[in-house]
Amino acid sequence: MTERSTDRLGDLLRVAPGTRVDLDSFDAAATHGWAKEGAAAQQAEYELHLTELQERLWAEGRHKLLVVLQGIDAAGKDGTIRHVMDAFNPQGCSVAGFKVPSEVERAHDYLWRIHAHTPASGQITIFNRSHYEDVLVVRVHGLVPRATWQRRYRHINEWERMLTDEGTTIVKLFLYIDRDEQRERLQARLDEPDKRWKFSKGDLAERDRWPDYIAAFEEVLRRTSTEWAPWYLIPANRKWFRNLAVAHILGETLDALDLRYPQPEEGLEGIVIPR
Ligand code: AMP
Ligand code: MG
Repeated sequence: MTERSTDRLGDLLRVAPGTRVDLDSFDAAATHGWAKEGAAAQQAEYELHLTELQERLWAEGRHKLLVVLQGIDAAGKDGTIRHVMDAFNPQGCSVAGFKVPSEVERAHDYLWRIHAHTPASGQITIFNRSHYEDVLVVRVHGLVPRATWQRRYRHINEWERMLTDEGTTIVKLFLYIDRDEQRERLQARLDEPDKRWKFSKGDLAERDRWPDYIAAFEEVLRRTSTEWAPWYLIPANRKWFRNLAVAHILGETLDALDLRYPQPEEGLEGIVIPR
């Protein structure tokens, strides 16, 4: 493909409801006609635009934006957050990361700890992992019976519907790297002393379960990409393209909200601040 399809990037990457995605045949290195050099200027432009959009979102104080980030280990969730957050004023943006649930969290329903972190009016919240872990790692490791996780797709869709009905815009980003790319990234974590802290031996056991994770992700994409809370499947082997796609999608999503600065008080023209 040679056409630079930025304008359609969102449409290209959005997963239509009910789609059976075959991740094994999905090109994780795709760049949709973009080259790294050309993308840098576009990326800078997108980030400027995101900065302005977030200021409007914050000033208007009406909409809420929830960005859900999922991906297999080493897919680049942290790197994406670093890049995207760069464009935002920290006052209106927060990140919530979800790890193995604590005892208190496990004593509640699985959405309890998640709901506590959804964005307030005027705010953007990025989820680094999310309630989707409850149909991913939980499924792959059989942490609850099959019948329990099976019904969660429905809960999740309905809960997300409620959030959107109440004024939250939801964007879900699945960062997809292929198996070779994961090997290289995990190896780099071992080889570079300053990256070693990111590696745990458990990562190898998880890598062994690659096909199970892929099947779990495919089911997530098929069953929980909805009109109100779509998934975007981001080819993430190339970090620069991943960042471009994410910035594009967030910009497009915020643009659609038609964000406006609040009307200033009347009669401000001609006012001069006294010495
Ligand atoms: P990291 O994002 O690398 O800090 O790792 C967080 C870990 O927490 C991952 O191994 C996740 O699979 C795990 N985790 C997140 N949510 C859940 C959950 N609901 N149940 C079990 N494990 C989880
Ligand atoms: Mg990790």
